[in-house]
Amino acid sequence: MLVNSYEVVVLGGGPGGYVAAIRAAKLGKTVALIEVRELGGTCLNRGCIPSKTLLRHAEVIETIEKAKSWGIETGDMTFSLSKMLARKDAVIKQLRTGIDHLLKQGKIDVYNGVGKVQAAGKITVQLADKEEVLQGEKIILATGSRPLVPPIDGIEEAAYFTSDTIFDIEKIPKSMVIIGGGIIGVELACIFASLNVPVSIVEMNDRIVPSEEPEASKALARSLKKKKISIMTNTKVTKIEQQGARQLIHIETAQGKAETLDTEAILMAVGRAPNTSAFAELKLEMDGPFVKVDSAMQTSDPTIYAVGDVTGGWQLAHVASAEGVVAAANAAGGKQTVDYRMVPRCVYTSPEIASVGLTEAEAKQQGIDYKVVRVDHAGNGRALAQDEKEGFTKLIAGTQYGEILGVLMVGPHVTEIIAEPSAFIHLEGTVDELASMIHAHPTITESLYEAAASWIGKGVHH
Ligand code: NAD
Repeated sequence: MLVNSYEVVVLGGGPGGYVAAIRAAKLGKTVALIEVRELGGTCLNRGCIPSKTLLRHAEVIETIEKAKSWGIETGDMTFSLSKMLARKDAVIKQLRTGIDHLLKQGKIDVYNGVGKVQAAGKITVQLADKEEVLQGEKIILATGSRPLVPPIDGIEEAAYFTSDTIFDIEKIPKSMVIIGGGIIGVELACIFASLNVPVSIVEMNDRIVPSEEPEASKALARSLKKKKISIMTNTKVTKIEQQGARQLIHIETAQGKAETLDTEAILMAVGRAPNTSAFAELKLEMDGPFVKVDSAMQTSDPTIYAVGDVTGGWQLAHVASAEGVVAAANAAGGKQTVDYRMVPRCVYTSPEIASVGLTEAEAKQQGIDYKVVRVDHAGNGRALAQDEKEGFTKLIAGTQYGEILGVLMVGPHVTEIIAEPSAFIHLEGTVDELASMIHAHPTITESLYEAAASWIGKGVHH
């Protein structure tokens, strides 16, 4: 049995793990990365990238439909699911090749097998033909999460998709019920509705996307309903019955009525559970089902760090990467922490939702003295030119100094625009500074300027 020694061993090759491995190598450490599946993890292979590629198709389909009212007609539209999925696979492959190249450049040894941490410093990897034992002075756990499957009556006999399997669906279903109206649920609803699939969302909360502010949920719900997506909130799934190739979903509605939905496909999107079995032997201190870490991303064992979904908190790829960078720096002897004040949160539906910093509810809860301005996009030239005027921009700033605390935007391309208020929060910028900056006209970004100018009582259009 061979024993290979490294200064840093990273378990998991997603956006937390591979970024940590590259950073540790750049800091001069000898590094091994263990990944049982494809490099890039959930984000690249079964999450962010496939969903955004297919959402781009949805956007184009929607634009073609909308263009009829502008006097542009294309004739009947046809879809090729296989070509759409092939483009999605090509995008994934290109990015995966990029990661592979970066790991080679960093002289990182990649082990493609199941890793198990036996004890601090000792990891076994089950490869196709043999087992290897690795020694790691420091270990970074980046094992991510998997789709949660709730214990609904009948679920074990029923066929259903999760975000792990939906991106390889073989044919466009005649109907779809999405259980869970969170981020995965609403993004996938937009994809399938654009393919003319009647979609129903069953959400147990009183609104969809409960992780965002209520007014964002409301604006999105209005748009989804226009796309003929049915939304059932305050609704419980009581039982699922497989009937040949179809499923009957028994629900209890908000009014307490028992109803049945008959569908050809179910997508389960009720959250994600952390993958902790690879290091169960360690008996690390936990925070519920998640690994407990301190601000340095260190676990209860000082030689072991953990990053990304396995630690709970924000289950976002960019947060996992930021944590990976910090864990690598600290594993290499540094003293870094992650700044969570300005984590951009993006939902790539149409319209898009993007937010950063505090929500109004959080500002209130923290007892902060704040003032809010909301600018609707109905008066924004670019939004009207684009025929996408449903959105708005909401700005929250501290009353005393005008420091920007949080921004919420709903509308076209706001997932890109949110970088501007993120930079302001990062640099502790104020509404005066934002209002003194020339913004290009016509742009959706002007709504940020308008909100700031209005906040200090100097608005022109608001
Ligand atoms: P989520 O937590 O966003 O939403 C799950 C939803 O399911 C919630 O609204 C919840 O109330 C509902 N729910 C739970 N149990 C239910 C039940 N039995 N019946 C009906 N509804 C039920 O989780 P998700 O959508 O699965 O996404 C998982 C994670 O992935 C999230 O943390 C999200 O941040 C991340 N993600 C991010 C993006 C992005 O950044 N654009 C995209 C997709 C996923």
